[in-house]
Amino acid sequence: MVFKRLSTRLSVLYGALFAFGLLMTALTGYISVVNNARQTAQNELQASARVFQRVWSDRDEVQSAGALLLAHDTDFRQAMLQQDAATVSEDFAVLQKRVKADMGFVIGADGQPMQGRSDPVAMAVAAALQNARDTKNRTGVITVASRPYQVVAMPVLKTYNGPDRLGWVVFVSQLDAVEVQALQKLAPVSATATILTQTRGGLWMDGSGQGSGYAADALSFFVDNSLRTGAAGPVSGHNGQAIAFAARLQTLGADQKSVLLLSYPLKAALRDYQPVISALALIGGLGLVFVVLASLYLSRSLSRPIQDLTKAARALREGGAGQIDIVARYEMGELAEAFNDMAASMQAREQDITRLAKCDPATGLPNRSAFEDHLRALHDSDAVEQGGVAIVCIGVDRYTHIRAVWGVAYGHSLMTRLQEILGGIFAKAYIARLSGDTLGLCLTPCAAAQALPLARAIAARLDKRIRVTEDQSLDVRVSLGVYHVGKTRGATDDCVERALIALDQARAAKVKVASFDPRVYSELADTLLLTDQLHAALQNRDMMVYYQPKFSYREGRISSVEALVRWNHAERGFVSPQRFVAIAEETGAIRDLTLQVLQTCIDDQKRLKAAGFDLDVSINYSGRLLSDDAFNQRTLRLCQQAVGRICLEITETAVIDDPKIGLAAINTFVDAGLEISIDDFGTGLSSLAYLKQIPAHELKIDRAFVMEIESGQRDALVVRSSIDLAHGLGMKVTAEGVETRAAFTLLQAMGCDLAQGYGIARPMPYDALGPFLTDFNGVVGGADVSPSGQRFASR
Ligand code: C2E
Ligand code: CA
Ligand code: CA
Repeated sequence: MVFKRLSTRLSVLYGALFAFGLLMTALTGYISVVNNARQTAQNELQASARVFQRVWSDRDEVQSAGALLLAHDTDFRQAMLQQDAATVSEDFAVLQKRVKADMGFVIGADGQPMQGRSDPVAMAVAAALQNARDTKNRTGVITVASRPYQVVAMPVLKTYNGPDRLGWVVFVSQLDAVEVQALQKLAPVSATATILTQTRGGLWMDGSGQGSGYAADALSFFVDNSLRTGAAGPVSGHNGQAIAFAARLQTLGADQKSVLLLSYPLKAALRDYQPVISALALIGGLGLVFVVLASLYLSRSLSRPIQDLTKAARALREGGAGQIDIVARYEMGELAEAFNDMAASMQAREQDITRLAKCDPATGLPNRSAFEDHLRALHDSDAVEQGGVAIVCIGVDRYTHIRAVWGVAYGHSLMTRLQEILGGIFAKAYIARLSGDTLGLCLTPCAAAQALPLARAIAARLDKRIRVTEDQSLDVRVSLGVYHVGKTRGATDDCVERALIALDQARAAKVKVASFDPRVYSELADTLLLTDQLHAALQNRDMMVYYQPKFSYREGRISSVEALVRWNHAERGFVSPQRFVAIAEETGAIRDLTLQVLQTCIDDQKRLKAAGFDLDVSINYSGRLLSDDAFNQRTLRLCQQAVGRICLEITETAVIDDPKIGLAAINTFVDAGLEISIDDFGTGLSSLAYLKQIPAHELKIDRAFVMEIESGQRDALVVRSSIDLAHGLGMKVTAEGVETRAAFTLLQAMGCDLAQGYGIARPMPYDALGPFLTDFNGVVGGADVSPSGQRFASR
């Protein structure tokens, strides 16, 4: 499109339309003026023609009257009859003088002129009258040698009214240029008069034998046309356009035709109208200027509101108010008004959305997004630089439990209540609900050293019986995570995330308050990479199995080993099994891992047996696997290939989490002849009721209790009662984490069946196991002899 702007297009369109209209009007005006001029010229030409003819006929009449007188004169007739040429000439000369004819002669009975026989005009006239039968006078034009003449011929009759003709009395007047010009002066317009003659159907010619300035054939065509219609018309000649009118003239001879052509130049005809035409042109020019200006104005006034609208729409898109000053009227004004309404309602809606997006709908408290906005604002101001900012995440412990027991609304009320309490303590703090069970508190200014004591104070204030509703109070327990933003750390987008991680760290470490530990954080980031590497390691069968011996007090020898998986990564070195086993459990890779360990153990047990060592092998069986029936069946089939006893260590929590499924799986294993050991006993708060139902063969007391056995009274008590309880339920007991001789001896005294720990042996690869067993059994020997003292590290 050539014109991109609407205003330009409108201007051009309107301008062109108006200019076209104006042009048409001017053209119509001009045409009607020209037509009018033509009509007037035509009328005047016709009038001129009539004047000419009148003048000529007047002269003809005078000459005719003279000729008649002579023709009727008895003496003259007598002379004619007797062919008395002398008398005839005498009488005729007297008359000719009177009628003032250019020329005159008498034609005798023989049809030949009686005087001037050599004159071509006289001869031509005589020839023209030769065949005339009638006895009336004749007038008409005759052209001789291209010169027109007006002829008046009066017959001379033998008797008055008689049929016999004695001859003619003829007068001839020249119709030459001088004559015609004289006549022109009489006409109402200064037309050019020419006499044209056509001989025997040829072209119309003037006296000079030319077309009087016009192309001969065009002129002939025009004359014929004008004669037929009796009207004037335009003809083109050397001198430009002209209006012409042809009037038929009577001719003397039958073979000649003559017309009087009156022509009038168009220029001359229009001269009278020149002022009108000039006025028209002026009005047209002024009109054109006006039209251009008006269309410019019109298109501007039309496109200005559209431009305003566009500008406002752009502003709206960029988040501005997007309002238009309404100056336009009519539809444009309505459109602008509608647009303003729309913009206003869009803004209102946007505000609503923003408000909803920034607040917790249940309590009306600011949400995490709002909390982060607040932190960003603080960061942009100098608050961080000046005093530092403390971000404290307050998590309500067992919130899901509270919600399940007292209902969702009660949970929300609790959070609101906690917010009120905090607001009462810290008037200037910004408090938000970060998630269902967590409040976030942002305090500034706050020095780094103040952050932890402050969090502890909050914990002390909230860990109380709190009245939540009018008639309901609750023993609230909270955990807190703290992250301090200071000059050195700077505020980052994940400040809140870090405070939340600190909260998780507090809960994991079972402490009230924890500060964000960046090491754990980077470990988290590393977990993704580790997950990938773990899959690769399993694929490449990079996992190894170490064995940790278990000493049997009763037999006084190493009777069994626990298989512990080891992963020696090329770059990382040995990766903690606690860490990658947890990842394997999350991702499902635990199946592959367990199968690989199990297969290795079965193979190694076979090799050991071949080498003369009969050992039970304990394998750690993740609680997550219990619910996978197909996998349990696979485990069973594999274990059928074992040459010795296989024991599955399952943590007590695994059974507690879903007792029904856990117990069913364990029963299947037991029925198939596998042994079951309850691992990490004491950490999972298992109730005796469950313990009773598990058909386990062994109970493994967690090393946390065993390692404290010498110092703490309580732990010794727990271990002792656990041993008694296990025995009561028909289980043998293994103590984990036996590191010292004292513990070893104490456990033996308590009736513990087996001991496992660094004090006896660290986990070792298969290749080290054979030499160790040979060495150990050789040194110890005997049933109730304890291992050599050197194995126990002195504490
Ligand atoms: P666990 O089953 O309680 O394994 C005993 C852990 O205590 C082993 O750590 C062992 O090296 C350590 N230990 C043994 N004696 C002592 C001692 O005297 N003092 C101290 N401080 N520690 C001692 P490890 O090998 O790091 O294994 C950690 C956990 O990883 C295991 O705890 C077990 O839950 C899991 N795990 C290891 N191997 C496997 C496996 O093959 N399958 C599954 N599902 N889990 C495994
Ligand atoms: Ca274990
Ligand atoms: Ca254990």
